[in-house]
Amino acid sequence: MPWCDSCDVYLAPNTVSDEGECPRCDTVVDSGDAKTTTGERIPWHFWLVVVALVGYLGWRLIEAFMWLGQQL
Ligand SMILES: [Zn+2]
Repeated sequence: MPWCDSCDVYLAPNTVSDEGECPRCDTVVDSGDAKTTTGERIPWHFWLVVVALVGYLGWRLIEAFMWLGQQL
């Protein structure tokens, strides 16, 4: 998110000019991740949660099949 030090405000990436200037005060803003909106990186702990969830659900599925086997 682009940040303007002069105005003390966050700017929407599409309001920043092509030169990276604030629309209010025309100073160059800290562009932040304005240019990487298409390539957002997924944090590693997200995958940790995914792996844990898949493992848990997989185990519950095995348990369900074992329970089904006992009912027959
Ligand atoms: Zn500004």
